[in-house]
Amino acid sequence: MIVLVLNCGSSSLKYQVLDMRSNTDYTLLAKGLVERIGEKVGDLTHKVPGRDNYHIEKPIADHTVGIKSVLDILTDKEHGVLSALSDINAVGHRVAHGGEFFFDSVVIDKGVIEKIEKCCELAPLHNPANLLGIKAVETLMPGTPQVAVFDTSFHQTMPKYAYMYAIPYQYYEKYKIRRYGFHGTSHKYVSRKACELFGTDFNNSKIITCHLGNGSSITAIKDGKSVDTSMGFTPVEGLPMGTRSGNVDAGIIMYLMEKEGLSMNEINKILNKKSGLIGISELSSDNRDLDAGRESGNEKAALAQKMLWYTIKKYIGGYIAALNGVDMIVFTGGIGENSNTTRENVLSDMEALGIVLDKDLNNQARGKDMLISKPESKVKVAVVTTDEELVIARDTMNLTTKK
Ligand code: AMP
Repeated sequence: MIVLVLNCGSSSLKYQVLDMRSNTDYTLLAKGLVERIGEKVGDLTHKVPGRDNYHIEKPIADHTVGIKSVLDILTDKEHGVLSALSDINAVGHRVAHGGEFFFDSVVIDKGVIEKIEKCCELAPLHNPANLLGIKAVETLMPGTPQVAVFDTSFHQTMPKYAYMYAIPYQYYEKYKIRRYGFHGTSHKYVSRKACELFGTDFNNSKIITCHLGNGSSITAIKDGKSVDTSMGFTPVEGLPMGTRSGNVDAGIIMYLMEKEGLSMNEINKILNKKSGLIGISELSSDNRDLDAGRESGNEKAALAQKMLWYTIKKYIGGYIAALNGVDMIVFTGGIGENSNTTRENVLSDMEALGIVLDKDLNNQARGKDMLISKPESKVKVAVVTTDEELVIARDTMNLTTKK
């Protein structure tokens, strides 16, 4: 079956079209990106494997126009990959926040839309855009089944003592303030895939997944269920990221606001856009630039990376304690899949916890699935490439073809 996967952001949307024959047998037909939706001139980049990329610039007023442009290019005689829109059997959407409503992916109906609307307050930048995408598909492809796959749902199995914040209980009751966690699709996918590849029973195992990219989070998974994760009420908690601060003493926020006379918007921008790797290094949010900076003697670049490595190490240690041991640690995301330096620095001097890295294997692991621990390591360490779109396509296929 043909599945269209949509990931709608506030002013952009990403798409993939996959021909799904089964969970493991599939072909990527096309993928692309629409950017600058709502601006004077928007653009669409369309990629078909084996062909030159195709790029159009034109005004794209809103998400409906953006999705219409995608559907037009997918069925275009010269650049398309489908003979008609009716070839698309179902549409899968990445949805940022499912609150406490969704433990898994769901077929979208009126009730689901209402619940996603209720979660807009929790993800004000993302959920409204996701809803625009769902509504645009309803308008342009009426009757086509749609599925929502949530970034938060995998983490809904966390115990209450792990997801509550120690602030007055009434704020949980009034506003649902609690840890939700994100990147759930990726943590679930790589943990399961690592178990399949490296001979561990997913439903009877202790796994720590490190999704390290521009946004980063670490998850503790017991018997196939997320039991703790580093991102929280919002994706700003946890590790230092490209531009996000990760954990800071809440007292700093009040102190800084007072000292600098900052508004809510300004402090929000500092913590989300000006902190993390770019904040410390004053050089770049991109880990590759920091590698280059550190190698050429830039101390702030080196400090930013050391802070990241150290925080990852602390989370891994904490989650080993929470899980009472670990069978496998999995690295994924742009940094986790590609940066041998990050993995080596995180995992060095952890023999006391049963982790023995094979440095040669670690140096070979770049964007491919492989074990990087020594045979004598009690804990397996794996690099596994993530593929969130594939998970969305699979869930969409499985939910819409269920009897
Ligand atoms: P993502 O958000 O998952 O696309 O990850 C982006 C991050 O991965 C950026 O910080 C990149 O610098 C980092 N990254 C990608 N490739 C490499 C590489 N070969 N070595 C080190 N970092 C990398």
